[in-house]
Amino acid sequence: MTFTTRFAPSPTGPLHLGHAYSALLAHDMAREAGGTFLLRIEDTDIARARPEWEAQIYDDLHWLGLAWPEPVLRQSEHFARYDATLDGLAARGLLYPCCCTRADIRAALSAPQEGVAAEAPYPGTCRGRPMSDRRPGDALRLNLPRALAEVGPDLGAFTDLGPVHPGTHRLDAAALTATQGDAVLGRKEIGTVSYVLAAVLDDAWQGITHVVRGADLFEITFLQVLLQKLLQLPTPSYYHHKLIRDEHGKRLAKRDDSRAIATYRAEGATPGDIRRLVGL
Ligand code: GLU
Repeated sequence: MTFTTRFAPSPTGPLHLGHAYSALLAHDMAREAGGTFLLRIEDTDIARARPEWEAQIYDDLHWLGLAWPEPVLRQSEHFARYDATLDGLAARGLLYPCCCTRADIRAALSAPQEGVAAEAPYPGTCRGRPMSDRRPGDALRLNLPRALAEVGPDLGAFTDLGPVHPGTHRLDAAALTATQGDAVLGRKEIGTVSYVLAAVLDDAWQGITHVVRGADLFEITFLQVLLQKLLQLPTPSYYHHKLIRDEHGKRLAKRDDSRAIATYRAEGATPGDIRRLVGL
């Protein structure tokens, strides 16, 4: 069986222990399976991605002992390819421009956090707007009711091989409507794309067979599998792993600089110490 996986960080802050766990786990699984571990830089959020964070990602991962084939896929170099997909979806009547400012929803889609998407499905205010009405600053949203109708009654399923949500998960129209709603696929910066769509396109483009990532992204997988169906792309296997939490049980976020790999390195920790800290 082929096994190709990836670690796909966004260069919007320092890598912390949670990222180290994700990258090490994916790398170890690929090695055990005789497969391939890829690194992908998810820098579609052009307002927040920084070259210095990207450089730090390469440096931290090399220090951890990880290796990957070059060149690395940097999503900011592929906007034209993503745009062609958006054009195709628009031509099928599945997108509409949206000017609603929902900073929280956008934040959730560019750096998904546990539970956020579940709390904030978009109410569909702009759903009646035609694409010809798109103005600078408008995002592009998926018309979920139309997308569900187009895919038909069998919305598909995915298998999770991880310990947190093991088993086969069927997509369900009511659940998708309640948790995801009309997701942003095209970011308000015209010509750019949201995380959720770029990741789906690149998982297929790179031949990813196993997506290994944190359980905070479990809910969004349902939306990503729906996009795979709409775009006739294969559905990989998923492995959502446990989240690394701080001593208060809170999930680590990019702002937790105290748990940044760079901080541990500066304090003299070894890669073996990091492995032990995350339970590998
Ligand atoms: N770029 C995403 C993040 O840093 C990861 C996406 C994924 O693994 O699918 O949260």
